[in-house]
Amino acid sequence: MGVYTARLDFSSAFGTLERCPGCGSADLAAVAAGERTVFRCRSCEARWHLELGHVVRIDGGQPCESG
Ligand SMILES: [Zn+2]
Repeated sequence: MGVYTARLDFSSAFGTLERCPGCGSADLAAVAAGERTVFRCRSCEARWHLELGHVVRIDGGQPCESG
């Protein structure tokens, strides 16, 4: 029932992620997806994108996804 608040230590003004909000890994790969940039964490496989200065997690919905 606890609420976990992640402290996002990055500058949203530059539109980049320095660390994965999920696991804290800095091993992120930026992938251009249309007009937005998606950041994929190589450590926990989470994917994120920036929306109005906020980090939003993208739910893959396919746990067996490979690549
Ligand atoms: Zn991660």
